[in-house]
Amino acid sequence: MRLVSTRDASAAQHSYTDVLLSGLAPDGGLYTPEEYPQVTLDELRVLKGASYETIAFVIKQKLVGDAIPSVELRSLLDATYIEPAFANEKGQVTPVTDIGRNLKLQNLSLGPTASFKDMAMQLLGREMDYELARRKDSLTILGATSGDTGSAAEAAFKGFGSVELFMLSPEVGMSVFQRAQMGALSGGNIRNISIRGRFDDCQDLVKAVKQDSEFAALGAVNSINWGRISSQVPYYFSGYLQAVKEVGEKVDFVVPSGNFGNVFSGYVAKRMGLPIRRLVVATNENNVLSRLMQTGVYAQKEAVITSSPSMDISKASNYERLAFDLFGRDATKLSAYMHEFNTTGLVSFLDHGLSVEAFLALGFESGSSTHEERIRTIQDIYKDTGIVIDPHTADGVCVAKKRDIQEVPVICLATALPVKFEETIREALGFVPERPARFVGLEEEMKQGSFITMNADVEALKSQLRA
Ligand SMILES: *Cc1c(COP(=O)(O)O)cnc(C)c1O
Repeated sequence: MRLVSTRDASAAQHSYTDVLLSGLAPDGGLYTPEEYPQVTLDELRVLKGASYETIAFVIKQKLVGDAIPSVELRSLLDATYIEPAFANEKGQVTPVTDIGRNLKLQNLSLGPTASFKDMAMQLLGREMDYELARRKDSLTILGATSGDTGSAAEAAFKGFGSVELFMLSPEVGMSVFQRAQMGALSGGNIRNISIRGRFDDCQDLVKAVKQDSEFAALGAVNSINWGRISSQVPYYFSGYLQAVKEVGEKVDFVVPSGNFGNVFSGYVAKRMGLPIRRLVVATNENNVLSRLMQTGVYAQKEAVITSSPSMDISKASNYERLAFDLFGRDATKLSAYMHEFNTTGLVSFLDHGLSVEAFLALGFESGSSTHEERIRTIQDIYKDTGIVIDPHTADGVCVAKKRDIQEVPVICLATALPVKFEETIREALGFVPERPARFVGLEEEMKQGSFITMNADVEALKSQLRA
């Protein structure tokens, strides 16, 4: 199992652990599997009813290859997913619940910071710490967050001597709860930097700093890191095995999307042989991805702040991994396409010899929702089932409900707990969701000075990193 860069025409191969500790490839491309490993239906049948960590072990082993010995990988997975970090009261890590009309919810948000990002980040932290210890090395990581990545990464790396983590976040846009979560984790090897600007400014700063050779070795925790994408693949297998009566039946997944990381993991699962019929990409008012899939035009558009802030993006970094496949894995064609996008903020499929049917051929479909629609969806699901869903999950459920009645199970990924977005839940339901015990009094834990505030200035950020 080896990885290649989407922009490297020579297709040089890299190991899982080398890729884990780096971010973008030096040529600006993203690392992606040289070929997708395969899972047979017989292997899947054996996994029906198995624990999450067992499913994750079988799938991750195929994606990691011999870069981490099996015994070590198994103990990293057991340490990550066995109670109490994830499992709910029934001992399930990502339980699937019926919500009627063949729709199901898969809860991915039972981890320490209450979003699906914990699923991969908790494992990423342990894998990096394991590999750095083996190499007797340490790593400085610079990341950017629109809300959930920050706390998930900080919870995953807190206290590891091998890693120092700097996290940039926009001064406005995050929920009070999200900011308090990061504030509470500040200190020691965790540094929070608040940027006077938007999430895109934070992401651009990370890119600009890394272009300086002095900082080229900085690690990445955003979903451009293949370690994160690969660690999200197992929950598609787990959701599938819970939702079907018999292995071999097809399902659809609906995925609230921003940077295209989560749904790309679903695509990897499909390419590995999981019987997925459709992958439905759900977006909010920042509908760059759904417009791309419906028109073939990938157009960067300044993000607006919405009630599902973790999906507020102006471009979708991981789309490059899919585009690589759409171009038949031709790195030269892909580079020309991405170059046009990166220099003009706009690129059309038609000019590069492709059509929108290419998305459908790979199983993709898309849709989007507005704030009013998400509010109504939160109300409807609560009325019908008593379940309170968060605004990101509501986006997916709303898009799912707009489709025709489906003859296969439709699994909507629940990507955050509602407790993270109290303001929107109060608007929809007139009350705030009950807080799990671990979040009671969170705002009081936030220490004075847990954020350094800065302008979006590359040189100032570099000085901060040097200090
Ligand atoms: C990050 C996030 C998303 C978007 O996921 P991508 O992998 O960026 O597409 C959706 N919902 C929530 C709650 C998130 O935190």
